[in-house]
Amino acid sequence: MSETRIIDASDPADQNKIVEEVAGLLEAGEVVALPTETVYGLGADALNADAVAKVFAAKERPEFDPLIVHVGSYEQVDEIAEVPDEIKEVVAKLMKAHWPGPLTLVLPKKDCVPDMVTSGLDTVAVRMSAHPIMKAVVRKLGKPIAAPSANRFGRISPTSAAAVEKELAGRISTIVDGGACREGLESTIIRPEAGEKRPVLHMLRAGPVTKEMLQRFGKVERPKRNRSNESPEAPGQLASHYAPVTPLRLLRKIGDFQPEPGKSYGLLSYCGSEKTGFINGYDWDQVEELSPGNGKLSEAAVRFFYVLRKLDESGVDEIIAEPVSETGLGVAIMDKLKRASVR
Ligand code: AMP
Ligand code: MG
Repeated sequence: MSETRIIDASDPADQNKIVEEVAGLLEAGEVVALPTETVYGLGADALNADAVAKVFAAKERPEFDPLIVHVGSYEQVDEIAEVPDEIKEVVAKLMKAHWPGPLTLVLPKKDCVPDMVTSGLDTVAVRMSAHPIMKAVVRKLGKPIAAPSANRFGRISPTSAAAVEKELAGRISTIVDGGACREGLESTIIRPEAGEKRPVLHMLRAGPVTKEMLQRFGKVERPKRNRSNESPEAPGQLASHYAPVTPLRLLRKIGDFQPEPGKSYGLLSYCGSEKTGFINGYDWDQVEELSPGNGKLSEAAVRFFYVLRKLDESGVDEIIAEPVSETGLGVAIMDKLKRASVR
């Protein structure tokens, strides 16, 4: 593969034509990078194992890391997943409240889903995107689309077409530019299970749909953190992930930081606060703020991967990250910072 074409989808008047073209490419077994409300995805026809193999190849993703499947309707969920009776009610409630949107549900799979998609697991991760382009393409194709984040394996997720280009140029033929992603963090992943009194929602990945938002549907459980990079029990939730090329260190307090002479350091600051933050602690070579002046977790989430990529490209020797408070969206941000700091 040589040239990567970027299709500008900013004008709604072009949308039908673009959707038709992209659905045609997917039908022909090609892979296409598409915008979603979370991060950009690298999509393929989920029922075509050869097409899905191209996604793994372009990303250099190991085959033990399963993909999320995007559906365009509730009927499509039934085509690929078998929802057990004992969780039917909670699954319906979760979908009604959060679909289309950044919530992925892990459900028992049907045979039509290739093992390639699920890494041989007997479950499939399903989501319905709220992004108008992704939504329209799935509907036009009439089949579910497997779409992991459009970055090389283990790297920073792309929240713009330009970031996808940096990750995958020359490896894929087409990127649809639908502007910046509204949420900026990957979907929350839940595996619902029947419980004694209430359903149990195993939160496999923290994301825009927070624990606080899910508690009314059942008991939210977070699995223990996976410290090895190969545990099959927590597929894809690898210790090292979202990693910049530049080493990143997450500090609890600035006092833990001892700069080495001759090394340059970039600060990933929460809001650039001189009072509570690390900004005064050292003469940083570069400072980037997640929520400049505001200290809003929602803004920090949207900007997170963009800012991380900016620091990674700044040429500093090491990125030092301030912690954010581990509530609401802060749980997902801290989870990503922890994984980004593992080498
Ligand atoms: P990505 O779309 O690149 O963020 O990756 C999708 C993630 O979804 C994987 O890394 C897994 O963590 C998760 N996932 C996909 N399928 C399953 C499944 N059947 N069971 C548990 N987790 C899954
Ligand atoms: Mg990913």
